[in-house]
Amino acid sequence: MTNQTQTIFTFGNKLAEGNASMKELLGGKGANLCEMNLIGIPVPPGFTITTDMCRLYHSSGENQVLEFMFNDLFKAMQFIEEQTGTKFGDATNPCLVSVRSGSRVSMPGMMDTVLNLGLNEKSVQGLIDKTGNARFAWDSYRRFIQMYAAVVMGVKAATDQDEDPFENIIQEAKKAKGIKQDNDFTAQDLKEITARFKEIVKKESGKDFPSDPWEQLGGAVIAVFNSWMNDRAVYYRELNHIPHHWGTAVTVQAMVFGNMGDHSATGVAFTRDAGTGENLFNGEYLINAQGEDVVAGIRTPRQITIEGSKRWAALCGVTEERRSEEFPSLEETMPDLFRQLAEAGAILESHFRDMQDIEFTIQEGKLWILQTRNGKRTGAAMVKMAVDMQQENLIGQQDAIMRIDPNRLDELLHPIFDPSAALKCRELGQGLPASPGAASGRMVFSAADAQNWTADGEQVILVRTETSPEDLKGMVVAEGILTARGGMTSHAAVVARGMGKCCVAGAEAVKIDYKTRTALFGGEILQEGDWISLDGSTGRIYKGKIKTTEAELSIDFDRLMLMADLHARMQVRTNADTPQDVQTAKRFGARGIGLCRTEHMFFEDGKITAMREMILAENEDGRRKALARLLPMQRRDFESIFSTMDGLPVTIRLLDPPLHEFVPHEDSSQKRLADQMGISQKTVREKIDSLHEFNPMLGHRGCRLGNTYPEITEMQTRAILEAALNLKKECIISRPEIMIPLTGTVEEMEFQKQIIEAAAQAVFDDYNDRIDYLVGTMIEVPRAALTADKIAESAEFFSFGTNDLTQMTYGYSRDDAGKFLPLYLEKGILKHDPFQILDQEGVGQLVNIAVKKGLSSRKNLKIGICGEHGGEPASVEFCHNAGLHYVSCSPYRVPIARLAAAQASIKQKRAETEMLEKLQI
Ligand code: ADP
Ligand code: MG
Ligand code: MG
Repeated sequence: MTNQTQTIFTFGNKLAEGNASMKELLGGKGANLCEMNLIGIPVPPGFTITTDMCRLYHSSGENQVLEFMFNDLFKAMQFIEEQTGTKFGDATNPCLVSVRSGSRVSMPGMMDTVLNLGLNEKSVQGLIDKTGNARFAWDSYRRFIQMYAAVVMGVKAATDQDEDPFENIIQEAKKAKGIKQDNDFTAQDLKEITARFKEIVKKESGKDFPSDPWEQLGGAVIAVFNSWMNDRAVYYRELNHIPHHWGTAVTVQAMVFGNMGDHSATGVAFTRDAGTGENLFNGEYLINAQGEDVVAGIRTPRQITIEGSKRWAALCGVTEERRSEEFPSLEETMPDLFRQLAEAGAILESHFRDMQDIEFTIQEGKLWILQTRNGKRTGAAMVKMAVDMQQENLIGQQDAIMRIDPNRLDELLHPIFDPSAALKCRELGQGLPASPGAASGRMVFSAADAQNWTADGEQVILVRTETSPEDLKGMVVAEGILTARGGMTSHAAVVARGMGKCCVAGAEAVKIDYKTRTALFGGEILQEGDWISLDGSTGRIYKGKIKTTEAELSIDFDRLMLMADLHARMQVRTNADTPQDVQTAKRFGARGIGLCRTEHMFFEDGKITAMREMILAENEDGRRKALARLLPMQRRDFESIFSTMDGLPVTIRLLDPPLHEFVPHEDSSQKRLADQMGISQKTVREKIDSLHEFNPMLGHRGCRLGNTYPEITEMQTRAILEAALNLKKECIISRPEIMIPLTGTVEEMEFQKQIIEAAAQAVFDDYNDRIDYLVGTMIEVPRAALTADKIAESAEFFSFGTNDLTQMTYGYSRDDAGKFLPLYLEKGILKHDPFQILDQEGVGQLVNIAVKKGLSSRKNLKIGICGEHGGEPASVEFCHNAGLHYVSCSPYRVPIARLAAAQASIKQKRAETEMLEKLQI
């Protein structure tokens, strides 16, 4: 900053020095006030002190900043005086201002504002003389003292529970005078209240309330700078990932008064419905009121439109007669001003090309706009507004797409709690918001119980310390899943997301006792059968049952998705293992399956027994016998999946997990298995013990299984290709892509490929027919990424398994990371959970290397990603930039990925255009 740095920007008389593009410097509020001034919307004149000054204040202190901008501040106040024809601190014609906060993005209600600044014993008399309205003058003065004392002098209730000393006085006065509402106070009442306010200030702060307007102004500006760092504001920024160094601007603006009598009012208007997105102008107002009265709920606000007013009355059970008497709309009480307001709303919406949230004040029949910003909205409203505005030609397709926050599409896809019902329930604790949605059910502690209870028509929540594939059936029938251990990529979380089922995972504070079938939540013990409710979008756990509403996909949603596909370069596939998953994903627009995990198929009845026999077999012969029983079952699964996908590509991954995951570990189950197999329980136990591994994640799994037991790969290849050939007879096209997991060297790949090719040839000979298929590999071992050129000589496609790749790149075991990841995130050692958001710096390098090397040896190599990251918007953008052809993600994330893929394309195109423009200059 130099002496030439402009510290203040004025607006008024349509000659604003700033504009809407200057939000970084002037904050959203200040920049938009300038813009409104430029386009002729009536805003009271004023000026904005830049965010630079806020930063200067926080680095160098009060004296420094006041000195730095002293001359500018003085001149700017003169500007307001000229524009309004008033004088700051004058005894006959005082200039009153508001001092308002406002940062780059709106942080509603987080920081402070002071209204009516400039009043003192002398100027309040001047205001009375000038307006002839003593009641109004004293009301303004007492409001000023109340706000200034709280914001600048720190005189306020110490905690939320404590009583506000000023409110106490108002309540006492109401009682003494026998009145209900504060606009029933007389001028004399308010004068007395003002005097008592000053006594409070003196008593609580030890200082007199300042009467010098310049002292008042300096104090208020500094207080607004300080409010940037208050606890609320800091917490809000952390929640919303807003950097602390941005700082707030300060806007000083001539006051306009909504509290001058029955021809004055104040209110808030929205150009569209923020809840549903409907194109309905709406809002609330109060007659004879100021500032936040509407939001603070001091009096019941009235609706702006007749229609809104009638809707409100119907909801509240107010008769039409009473409504029109006591709660008439602005459209009825001040029809002219209503029209002006609606017009201003229309102008602002088309100017900013988005739904506007507008603050207004009517002073004795004249309308003033005090603020406009893009309004906050629900996920459903977000979609509807974007699509509607595109159809109205207010915005282009690209804008409509860019305006959507892909993550918030989730809200539209999962059932949600009725918000008012949730408020009434007791919160038991919180876990990770592992899979969004809302679910209520009776607690059960095992998959078997879940099945039994639901068979009896009950609704259950499956509560487990953690889940394993064996719990799958219980998970399927449960409304929701709660686990005490595990993270966002834990089994419970991944499977639940895949099913679109609500899941709260890793609720560490919950202690589960399977023996007594109880769960301890903090101090409270709940029993099997007790009702609980989970909010998978927030991770909150509630006691009792909460009503939910099913989310339905709207036409607007479909339209948005179609638009997205037009703009995206990458395709979106899904990770799906069962025909139901495939169906869901197709409904959401998946263009193929990027990952079909065959192991999940083995957990169903019948199959698990044959699978266990295969694993426990003494030798190859025994294994082949068991595999022969599995073959027809797998083939049926593939037939069903291929025919559902109907010609779209289906990537099938060969058996991946370590074998011990398939065998029972409890005594009773082992005995049952031994009986089934006709061998001793001891043999079973010994074999199972021999499968134990110290580090199963790095053990005997992936292609290491297929290479040591080629007969497994053979059987799976056969099942896949026979299914495809059977369908071919019915004229259904299948496009199988056989994927080898956990490849680290080209030899591992080549060995598997040869087994596959031989098995394929055998099938083709049997059928006397053939079918096209691809053989490729997961890239999930760092070595595979580094030697991708060699591997691509054998592999026809790559699919990045970023879960394992992340695990092996960091050396973090996914199953154990829950012990330290939360703390790492809290301490800032990690910015994000790398299992959720792809680590572009490290893992991303491996992806980039593998893409480059892979394409260098095989030009038409097909490349995708099938890790959990495939449905995370920032990671999708990375995949686009890395040149991948598709991303694959769980069914419920397909729409999110489609949108994120379109956004990535648009961003890239826009960046390229910008670059070209720069080069031409
Ligand atoms: P926030 O950022 O919390 O909304 P604002 O700065 O918008 O705070 O101000 C709080 C309230 O005071 C709003 O209702 C606003 O309309 C009102 N207000 C602010 N400045 C003025 C002014 N110059 N004249 C009248 N009302 C004002
Ligand atoms: Mg505001
Ligand atoms: Mg893997």
